[in-house]
This record gives sequence, structure tokens and C-alpha cells, in this order.
Amino acid sequence: MTESLACIGLGANLGDMRAVLAAAYTQLQQLPGTRHHRCSPWFRSAPVDASGPDYLNAVACFDTTLSPQLLLEALQSIEHRHGRERPYRNAPRTLDLDLLLYGDQQIATPTLTVPHPRMHERAFVLLPLAALLPDAVIPGRGPVSTLMSSVAGQSVWRAD
Ligand code: ADP
Ligand code: MG
Repeated sequence: MTESLACIGLGANLGDMRAVLAAAYTQLQQLPGTRHHRCSPWFRSAPVDASGPDYLNAVACFDTTLSPQLLLEALQSIEHRHGRERPYRNAPRTLDLDLLLYGDQQIATPTLTVPHPRMHERAFVLLPLAALLPDAVIPGRGPVSTLMSSVAGQSVWRAD
């Protein structure tokens, strides 16, 4: 079966964020049909287009035989297990898991857009992604290293 490299954005800004992100990463590692897991360092960021506490963010990557749609469902199931609610757009959240990249595929369905449509303009995604995969290219957008210069004004800093 074909294996693809999947990149997941992890974010939290409610509760014990370090514990939640660590548990979520463990649960990603336990997904069937996935291997070679690695995770970026953790970063803090101020909320974008929203109020509330600072976020803790990271990016995790792994090789997977799961389809993009199955992977999205698995991510949503992990979010639910951490009590994720969606009271309104950009509301503070215990856990947000986004499918950022799936190989070099570009996907547009009603429930799934890959690459994630806002990742290229978010320093809290690009910095951890670049820490993990410095040579990553976002299909349709360009190299992460180039995109990083356009988000230099955003407040994101290493959490460790
Ligand atoms: P956001 O992450 O933008 O703050 P949500 O986590 O509430 O928003 O996700 C809203 C919807 O976005 C989900 O129901 C999902 O179907 C859709 N979606 C589309 N593309 C993606 C993607 N690449 N990763 C995660 N969710 C996605
Ligand atoms: Mg999300």
C-alpha cells in the first residue's frame, strides 16, 4: 500500500496545554497504519483573529497508509476525546488538530482542504514545521523557508 508523509498541526489554549499536547501526540503515535513519528519543539503564540490565552503549538509528522479522509476522522476523534467543543469560530479550544500536508497532494472537498488553507500565513505553523522539515514545500504556496519571511512580524516563540 502507498505510504504518504502526513503533517499535523497541534494547538491548544485551554487547560493543561502541555499535558493535552503530549497526550494527543501519544494518540497520534498509536494510530494504525502510521510509523516513523516525530514532533517539533513546542512554541507559544498569541491568538490570531481571536481573544483568549496564548496557544501552545507543535507540528507532528509521520508516514501513513491511512487516506486523508480517514486521517481527518481520526484527528477529530482525538479532539473529541479531549473535550473539544465548537461554540463559535476561532473559539478557545482544548485541542485543535489540523491536517496540514499529505505528501504533495492538493485536496479540495467540502470537509477537507489540503494543504490546510491558512497554514502558509501562520507563523505558529511555519516555525514548528520548519524546525521539523526545513526543506518542506507547501504545494501551491512554495518552500516553507521562503514563506517564513512574510510572517516574521507574528508573535511566536519557543516554549522550552
Ligand atoms: P480551525 O482549525 O480552522 O480553527 P476547526 O478545527 O473547527 O477550525 O475545523 C473546522 C472544519 O474544518 C472541520 O470540520 C473540517 O471538516 C474542516 N477542515 C477542512 N480542511 C481541514 C484540514 N486540512 N484539517 C482539519 N480540518 C479541516
Ligand atoms: Mg482545526
